[in-house]
Amino acid sequence: MTYLVVCAWCLKIMDEKECPDAQPMDKPISHSICPECLEREIAQINSISINETHIG
Ligand SMILES: [Zn+2]
Repeated sequence: MTYLVVCAWCLKIMDEKECPDAQPMDKPISHSICPECLEREIAQINSISINETHIG
């Protein structure tokens, strides 16, 4: 059976993968992060850490 790999941020379907174990799943979806959202999250994390250095 196959399951979908979906971006947890924008819910874009990134990939469809073969499940090695043929176990029935309630929701055959695996959440990941797409390159665009990964870049945005990294930029956000960097801006937060920059802001924190100005506190205190
Ligand atoms: Zn995304």
